[in-house]
Amino acid sequence: MEHSFIAWAKQRASKLPRVKLGIGDDCALLSCSPADRIDPSSIDQSAPCDDWVVTTDSLCDGTHFILADCGPKRAGRKLMAVNLSDLASMAAKPVAVFLSLCLPRKGAGDVAAQVFEGVYELAKEFQVSIAGGDTNVWDGPLVLHLTAIGQCPVDKAWRRSTAQIDDAVFVSGSLGGSILGHHLDFTPRLKLAEKLAALDVVSAATDISDGLGVDLLNITAASRCGAELDLDSIPVMHAIGDGEDFELLFTVPQDKIASVPSELDGVPLKRIGKIVSRTGLWAKDKRGVRQLPPNGYVHGS
Ligand SMILES: [Mg+2]
Repeated sequence: MEHSFIAWAKQRASKLPRVKLGIGDDCALLSCSPADRIDPSSIDQSAPCDDWVVTTDSLCDGTHFILADCGPKRAGRKLMAVNLSDLASMAAKPVAVFLSLCLPRKGAGDVAAQVFEGVYELAKEFQVSIAGGDTNVWDGPLVLHLTAIGQCPVDKAWRRSTAQIDDAVFVSGSLGGSILGHHLDFTPRLKLAEKLAALDVVSAATDISDGLGVDLLNITAASRCGAELDLDSIPVMHAIGDGEDFELLFTVPQDKIASVPSELDGVPLKRIGKIVSRTGLWAKDKRGVRQLPPNGYVHGS
């Protein structure tokens, strides 16, 4: 449902000039250029302005976490981490977040405080302000919403839509840990993204929230191309269909591949394939090239 709804909503939404990038990427980009000020005449026109980078995510008890198993604090931490991961995937620096809660009646106050503590843990680590929000009590399960706002130098945010044919595909870290509980306790790759942005090597990027295959297809669909994975080089072989790794998935032009280190900020960076003109997701190994199902598991080659 989600993909078709997003495509429909993208068509329906009005396109206003201050929204540089709207529905369909990891975050939206809002222009903050001097010309967009309410009274542009009073502002130094030569001063560079950052873009605002905005994202929002919701997590539901029973779908994205099991409250009875993980408790409200870990759920709150995950909520913050998934949003910060989206900011990292566009090379944005987080500034502030807004937290809204739909709380089950039983123990609502205590649950709210613990969720807040989980959010605050990462807010403190990454110097992000919890700047507002909302609370509601209802008869349903715990539902958490967060909106995160970051900033990025003008026109420097990474996008999904800017990969080019022959770019190399890279992934950070090692994949496939989500099933081991990594999806609750991972560290969003903000520091890695900052260092990678300073190298100026990335042509397109996203984070892995739905599985390598699905998320890579998000890049190729937005960039109107395909990708060929070198199966022998993927850190964990079954990881193509695994979900919530929250690693960075990015592309690098041929002439910049040599500038990508094998490790950055203590995180391995692995080249796993390349962008090709043929649309879809392809796998290359000793047996040749074949098409991959986006969320299919690949059993040993
Ligand atoms: Mg994302």
